[in-house]
Amino acid sequence: MQAVKSRNTKPEKIVRKILSAAGYRFKLNRKDICGCPDIVFASRRRLIFIHGCFWHGHSCARGARTPKTNTAYWTAKIKRNRLRHLKVLRVLRKQKWSVLTIWECELKKDNLLQRLRNFLNGGKVGIHGGRKR
Ligand SMILES: [Zn+2]
Repeated sequence: MQAVKSRNTKPEKIVRKILSAAGYRFKLNRKDICGCPDIVFASRRRLIFIHGCFWHGHSCARGARTPKTNTAYWTAKIKRNRLRHLKVLRVLRKQKWSVLTIWECELKKDNLLQRLRNFLNGGKVGIHGGRKR
């Protein structure tokens, strides 16, 4: 039961910490890239978005929660967020960016670093092992 929203551990911060600890170098919030991604790996052509479950209407418990006041307002707002992100993804795909979206509720999972690694190393760690150099 988390009644109070904790704001001192921002999801982006957690992911950034993990990535720096693993030795990755990246840029933050590049305004010149569509959707202003949270974390940018320009040379790898990869982007990470970190999404709040509530704000982007995730299919988890937190995302399914609807506020008791101004319900219509929030529902519309979350829908807009989702649609905007889908549009952003379409544009980024055309620009040949690979995009990983991490949900707030996934930050606690043990496999987060592995997931980040798989994504950043372009599947080198995966079963395909298609190493390109
Ligand atoms: Zn979630």
